[in-house]
Amino acid sequence: MTILQIITPVVKPIGSFCYNPTMSLSDNDQQLIATAKATINTFSIPGGKIGYVGAALRTKEGAIYKGVSLHLVCGLGFCGEANAIANALTEAGPIQIDTIVSANPTGIISPCGRCRELMNVLADDSDETWVIVSENEKLQLKDLLPRPWKPTSDTENKV
Ligand SMILES: [Zn+2]
Repeated sequence: MTILQIITPVVKPIGSFCYNPTMSLSDNDQQLIATAKATINTFSIPGGKIGYVGAALRTKEGAIYKGVSLHLVCGLGFCGEANAIANALTEAGPIQIDTIVSANPTGIISPCGRCRELMNVLADDSDETWVIVSENEKLQLKDLLPRPWKPTSDTENKV
């Protein structure tokens, strides 16, 4: 060990600097953003607010699925991404997401931790899912969820 190694602090970059650089958006990505924004349809029901977030995903096969958020005053509800994924699973069975994006009336939003976990357990290579996080960048799920939970044979037996 050299003196330089002893006195140099261990500095680990955080966030996207650790992983892949962000990618620019394609025309297909722009269309997916437009679909997510067009899915926003905010209205109230006696128990809460529906559709403040709109989400859209494109599967690796090229199919598009949409969903809206549902937030109830009793604490129940789900995100737009979860709704889009549920719609895809309902219509297509097992899916592999190529790209997903969600937006509210203020613009594109990054998925919450719960949705990142949900995206991650859909397929063996889900960590390569592209997540559009702003009007001009997308990241792979592995950049947003660097140490994901994975089901094991033990957990699979409990389902
Ligand atoms: Zn979420």
